[in-house]
Amino acid sequence: MQEFEQYIGGVFSKGSAQFESRDPATGKVWALMPEARQEDVNAAVEAADAAFRAPEWAGMTPTARGKLLMKLADLIAENASRLAEYETRDTGKIIRETSAQIAYVADYYRYYAGLADKIEGAHLPIDKPDMEVWLRREPIGVVAAVVPWNSQLFLSAVKIGPALAAGCTVVLKASETAPAPLLEFARIFDQAGFPKGVLNVITGFGAECGSVLTSHPKVAHIAFTGGPDTARHIVRNSAENLASTSLELGGKSPFIVFEDADIESAVNAQVSGIFAATGQSCVAGSRLLIANSIKEDFLSRLKEKAESVVIGSPLDMATEVGPLCTETQRELAVRLVSQSVDAGASLVTGGAAIDGEGIYFPPTIVDCSEAPKAPCLTQEFFGPVLSVVGFDTEEEALTLANDTAFGLASGVFTRDLTRAHRMIRGIRAGIVWVNTYRAVSPIAPFGGHGLSGHGREGGLQAALDYTNVKTVWLRTSDEPIPDPFVMR
Ligand code: NAD
Repeated sequence: MQEFEQYIGGVFSKGSAQFESRDPATGKVWALMPEARQEDVNAAVEAADAAFRAPEWAGMTPTARGKLLMKLADLIAENASRLAEYETRDTGKIIRETSAQIAYVADYYRYYAGLADKIEGAHLPIDKPDMEVWLRREPIGVVAAVVPWNSQLFLSAVKIGPALAAGCTVVLKASETAPAPLLEFARIFDQAGFPKGVLNVITGFGAECGSVLTSHPKVAHIAFTGGPDTARHIVRNSAENLASTSLELGGKSPFIVFEDADIESAVNAQVSGIFAATGQSCVAGSRLLIANSIKEDFLSRLKEKAESVVIGSPLDMATEVGPLCTETQRELAVRLVSQSVDAGASLVTGGAAIDGEGIYFPPTIVDCSEAPKAPCLTQEFFGPVLSVVGFDTEEEALTLANDTAFGLASGVFTRDLTRAHRMIRGIRAGIVWVNTYRAVSPIAPFGGHGLSGHGREGGLQAALDYTNVKTVWLRTSDEPIPDPFVMR
């Protein structure tokens, strides 16, 4: 059995305890993971804090930090196939997707490598004579990066990249569900030549590891991706250290198709939006809002695609839909679909767990047009389950799209330019994709609002978010300071 190690202060170790990780394709234990408990978490934060203050990192020029990040990007690209294999093995996510995603993760690090020496301060045209005032942008300190199990190399790159570019140090907590790719990433990071303790990688459970990390007095910022319930714990934990937070949470994203849309394109995008990654994606287009005039035709095309996807081993390049990551997720998907049918929704295809080895669940479509309160239409969950609602007018489509407390992503398919603009304006979400879906880039900010969280990852602003502004006042007069009892 494979054994993985945690990475603290540049040293690999087994941790206070170990726990087993299962391969979702077989349901069998395949690896032992290091479990970080309080003493490991404290050691990781102390290592990050010491590295933050040490001259090797604090005194390094931003250009040199950028070069190290560039070296890291090259190492990730060189080792992409091994990282992809570990991610697939531990999470069940198909190798087709993990290979492509990890190759692109290298570009995220390249983007932030380039930004490291472009984080500029400012000079202020101050309203007082004999005074120079300027702003310095300084790294905020130790960052606790907490990520979920899905797309973890990607979700950690959007935290580690800007944090290190800005000069912070990081304790990365991999999810206890499938931490293998991030523990392996630590080995690659170790070869890039950063000073010890700049990045520390641990894994463990919510209460013993996550809570200790996010409430630690030496943590200055918490960059979190995960579910809204965990986010509430994180925010409560941050009441201890008053750390700033960025929260990237889930979504119940609308995918809106008007009657004038390019239907083939919309069908393919919808398949990608909900069945790719076996529906285990925060931006999954899990609510199809479809013009009633084309609903029957669209659903029959979707059903045909859903029933012909290649379901199989995630390590096989031909597989399109792999297993779900955990049995709990599958049980939830089965339950929500069945409760939705009880609430008046009709099952178009799928809905039942696939018998046999592995945690398999088929692409599923549920027509909720007659069941507006159906739980699969309203609740956020991970799984290849598409909930459908028909509409007659543009106003109705917009009302349905915004009928959610989440606000992460959305998709609009139409050839009508003015309507597209009205929808862009009206939809409450952090991302609107028009005639496309699930496109991401290091250059484009990513994030949501409402129950989908706050803060943005990706883009220039994300690097600025890892800095504090220091205002410097310098008096240029040689005259003595006048009346000390008057504030000037
Ligand atoms: P989760 O919220 O259960 O766990 C996320 C991380 O938080 C894990 O590392 C976990 O150990 C840690 N954690 C748990 N309890 C904690 C506590 N009390 N204090 C500190 N840390 C704690 O999420 P998950 O089930 O691994 O992932 C699925 C969720 O993540 C979904 O809701 C999904 O939508 C969301 N997600 C969001 C995005 C995004 O960018 N918006 C991306 C991917 C996933």
